Amino acid sequence: MDWETLLKENYLRILENIQRACEKSGRKFEEIKILGASKKQTSEKIKIAFKLGIKLFGENYVQEAEKKIFELKDFPIEWHFIGRLQTNKVKKALNLFSMIQTLDRINLAQEIQKQAEKKNLIVPVLVEVNIGKEPTKGGVYPEKLEDFIGEVKNFNRIKIKGLMCLPPYEEDPEKVRPYFMKMQKIFEKIKTYMNSEFKELSMGTSNDYTIAIEEGATIIRIGEALFGKRS
Ligand SMILES: *Cc1c(COP(=O)(O)O)cnc(C)c1O
Repeated sequence: MDWETLLKENYLRILENIQRACEKSGRKFEEIKILGASKKQTSEKIKIAFKLGIKLFGENYVQEAEKKIFELKDFPIEWHFIGRLQTNKVKKALNLFSMIQTLDRINLAQEIQKQAEKKNLIVPVLVEVNIGKEPTKGGVYPEKLEDFIGEVKNFNRIKIKGLMCLPPYEEDPEKVRPYFMKMQKIFEKIKTYMNSEFKELSMGTSNDYTIAIEEGATIIRIGEALFGKRS
């Protein structure tokens, strides 16, 4: 089967699943943004997904993204960074991405602030939460989150737009639900004292996005369920 047909089938299936999850949880379809998690997928497939209606894509590696963003420069795509960001890549990342979804360290915030000042930019970010407290993963531990956000608020070039997480992988997505529920609770609490720009909750991947929607996600990040296996 050709990529057009395959991606279209995948996309329609995803839309149906989103619709069903929204009905089940009393949410509106328009509240959910699909982010195509396009690491290790070709520009050609991203282009097909864009033409199907996905306008937002996320990349994990600055160098890989740079090449693809250049190849796709004629398409009005919104690009978010969703990988682990090294401080020495911040300068380049700010040229490429309209949002950094993975802010999780003060030294990273400092570097974003520094580079944003030079470029006269305001940088929208999500704070990544290590909701499963996995030592191998990035993200701020839940109990440190409010202090961290308090510190980041001092950086006037950084706008905190919400939270992001990548919970532990479980074959049975129902086992991920408690992590999403916990995220939603933390999100709602922090929202009470942030301004109205704090509104995004980025969670859910191919395996568990319907559960994430039921538990309050506003951005779902879908890779293989949309594009097929990564090469
Ligand atoms: C790769 C990736 C995804 C998408 O994962 P799939 O299982 O392919 O849907 C989502 N979020 C992040 C941070 C990723 O690195």
